[in-house]
Amino acid sequence: MPTKKLPSYLSKLKEIRETLLADVEKNFKISQEEPSEPVADITDDAARAYSSQLMTNLGEQDWEKLKQVDEALEKIKDGNYGICSTCDQAIPEARLDVVPFAKFCVECLSNIENETQTPTNGLRKNDSEENL
Ligand SMILES: [Zn+2]
Repeated sequence: MPTKKLPSYLSKLKEIRETLLADVEKNFKISQEEPSEPVADITDDAARAYSSQLMTNLGEQDWEKLKQVDEALEKIKDGNYGICSTCDQAIPEARLDVVPFAKFCVECLSNIENETQTPTNGLRKNDSEENL
């Protein structure tokens, strides 16, 4: 990883972190306020339940992403940013440009995805390669 590009990844990560924190805070506030709202009718209640579910899911995703961003920032500090957590190979810059908090190289990521997801068809590997 050329140290020349590190500052740009660092500022990208910090930017993502701030955006995420703002989102998480916003979601938290909304979910805190929600119970005190009067329930108007069943339709309204169902809609609220649905959007609340949506918000919870989004929140969990945000937390997960935030965790990855924090880990990436930690790696920059430790001087091993851009190294795959599994195989110790350098993660391609093209991938870091898109996902600055990437933890794995493309190959390991597709291995992990194949392990954690039930393979539905043989096209999956080609799909993830195209997403690089
Ligand atoms: Zn790897």
